[in-house]
Amino acid sequence: MIIPKTREQIELMRESALIVSKTLGMIATEIKPGVTTLQLDRMAEEFIRDHGAVPGFKGLYDCPSTLLTSVNDQIVHGLPTNRPIEEGDIVSVDCGALKNEYYGDHAYTFEIGEVAPETKKLLQVTKESLYVGIREFKIGNRVEDVGSAIQRYTEAHGYGVVRELVGHGLGKKMHEGPEMPNYGKRGRGKLFVEGLVVAIEPMINMGTKNIRQLKDGWTIVTRDGKPSAHFEHDVALIDGKPELLSTFAYVYKALGIVSDEENEFRREPLAV
Ligand code: MG
Ligand code: MG
Repeated sequence: MIIPKTREQIELMRESALIVSKTLGMIATEIKPGVTTLQLDRMAEEFIRDHGAVPGFKGLYDCPSTLLTSVNDQIVHGLPTNRPIEEGDIVSVDCGALKNEYYGDHAYTFEIGEVAPETKKLLQVTKESLYVGIREFKIGNRVEDVGSAIQRYTEAHGYGVVRELVGHGLGKKMHEGPEMPNYGKRGRGKLFVEGLVVAIEPMINMGTKNIRQLKDGWTIVTRDGKPSAHFEHDVALIDGKPELLSTFAYVYKALGIVSDEENEFRREPLAV
């Protein structure tokens, strides 16, 4: 079901999204070779609770963790483990937070030290495709306009677009309507409405689009064992245009990255 939000509700959702953004910023300073994803998970839970929120994933669909940490060929839904992170890994960290009855849901794929150039390229293109998709989230457009833009952009690089997992509406439920696939045909699907809040989240594989699930019942990996990237933002439709509720600014501050990629989706500058 599609549930448009009032301006007041959107401001509450911004609070939840920014708690997740800050959590990812904290993770950016802690994620390094030798650290385990289970350690990161504990830090994230403490951080979220310290900020007056509760972890959004833990307990939802029986999820055991605060973070979902997907390493290398893991696409999404990786459960935190005791395996130490290694130089050259990529780690997609997906995080949710619940505050004032509203969810934030936001993800970033981290490079650990020097990663292979072709992997770096995958991350860059996947993140660019997120903004290519967000640009299509506007009044007059339909659900598949976002997905078709993401698909066209990433397939032009020879990458595989995951079909089985999609973005979604966001609100008092982690997953509301509409489903937001990262593929599709221009002009198809439900019309976007003012006040809609969605999580747009391209999951892009270097090789085949095909996936399989590990025996843990959670972790989704690529069929061919090649790496996969995942970036996710929470976006509200305000005055007919997309506005970011989440931000990578805390991650970039921690990593010393300068970027203006979010500026076109923000009406007021963000103080970080
Ligand atoms: Mg997520
Ligand atoms: Mg999501």
